[in-house]
Amino acid sequence: MFHLSRRIFITTSIMALTMAGCGADKPSVTTEVSLQPEVTIGETANLEVKILADIALNGSHGYDITRSLTTEIGPRLAGSPQEAKARRWASAKFEELGFTHIRTEPFPINGWMRGLETAQITKPYQQNLIITALGGSVATPEGGTQASVAYFEDYEALIAAPMGSLDGKIAYISGRMIKDRDGAGYGPANQKRRNGATEAAKRGALAVLIRSVGTDSHRMPHTGQMRYDDTIKKIPIAAMSGPDADQLDRIFTLVKDTGEDVEIKLRLNTRDLGEKTSGNVMAEIRGSEKPDEIILIGAHLDSWDMGTGAIDDGAGVGIVMGAAQVLLESGLKPKRTIRVVLYGSEEIGIVGAFAYAKKHADELSKHVIATESDFGAGKIYAIQSGKTLANKAAVAAMAPEFRYLGIQPKEGDTNGGPDIGPLSAEGVPTVRLNQDGTDYFDLHHTPDDTFDKIDPKAMQQNVAAYATLIWLASETDNNFRDE
Ligand SMILES: [Zn+2]
Repeated sequence: MFHLSRRIFITTSIMALTMAGCGADKPSVTTEVSLQPEVTIGETANLEVKILADIALNGSHGYDITRSLTTEIGPRLAGSPQEAKARRWASAKFEELGFTHIRTEPFPINGWMRGLETAQITKPYQQNLIITALGGSVATPEGGTQASVAYFEDYEALIAAPMGSLDGKIAYISGRMIKDRDGAGYGPANQKRRNGATEAAKRGALAVLIRSVGTDSHRMPHTGQMRYDDTIKKIPIAAMSGPDADQLDRIFTLVKDTGEDVEIKLRLNTRDLGEKTSGNVMAEIRGSEKPDEIILIGAHLDSWDMGTGAIDDGAGVGIVMGAAQVLLESGLKPKRTIRVVLYGSEEIGIVGAFAYAKKHADELSKHVIATESDFGAGKIYAIQSGKTLANKAAVAAMAPEFRYLGIQPKEGDTNGGPDIGPLSAEGVPTVRLNQDGTDYFDLHHTPDDTFDKIDPKAMQQNVAAYATLIWLASETDNNFRDE
């Protein structure tokens, strides 16, 4: 038994009492602050699960894989030479760990790259802003775009603005993302990132700046993919860090009374690279009795370009590869085939996920269950099933075997994760091991998404959970379908 909870011990000398002239030295007081609900890892009654847990909880399988990927490859932007290098890394790593049926399946994408990116408030109070282009954004004209800024407190306020009201202006869309364990604030906050450029362009804007979609208070801008509507003019869009957005919000509060103009100069020289190659890399532990039946666990190999893609999604790569590695090390022979899929080009619109679903269309009926790890490196607290009653019943039957890791059943449906969505849509049963993502959007898509943020103990728990999952799903007679 050991404890996984992170704790901070704050030692405080009682200076006030000492200074009040009590004379004798006062003992220091230690306050224990528990940052997360405590999870106690216990014993399991299932012999095979116990074997897997012993290996996973005493090893550093996932942590080592994630360290290798983020250190030896680093950032892995979709379609870049670095992403290609990551595919070769993945292939070699699968080989080294003893997997079989290692394959890379290429597919085309539209390449894009970031360039010089700067912004300054030029009126009424001059200062630099920390910004970054959103993925897919067009460039500003040579020399930049300098214009008056129209303020919107959130995306809804922009939508309410009349057509033509932004002629010749830069639109600034503020609005904070709510922090939540499950990342529930992401969808609503993300609308301005996805559609902000199109909606502002419809109203005549020259460019858009948004408050980053993130929950931190550091001067880190969060990138992420945006979309254009081909029938609407394409205008540049960038995100600024939270503190810079706060600053701009304060300036707009001041000029409400004075009526002064707020002006910004924005310069982005992003580039559309045309067609590039991306790809998925996969490998297997072949099933001993039902090799054509597939248990799929995935993560995505690509990342954004500013950090090293550690929590998004180097951790997921480490977790799923590491879990299968634990099963290999155990010597246990799964009845069904375990397939580990590392998707390419997730960040630019789950392109690899659609390519996989298309390429494997004829064997989707043999996909017994699928899931993905793509929500950082936090501890798993719940197991959740996909949509059908059969799927729910089969996952509920496995759920008690996860209690030893502090993982409880969770109500509601899952589609298995972003890259599993296209499989779920085709009827593949899904399951999700829900991670605590409270801090995930502090780092997500920023230069601060680096390996040092990963807790090795939480990685062990994740690897143990996925190893437990693939073993149980392989051995059950249930096929998770209504058949
Ligand atoms: Zn991701």
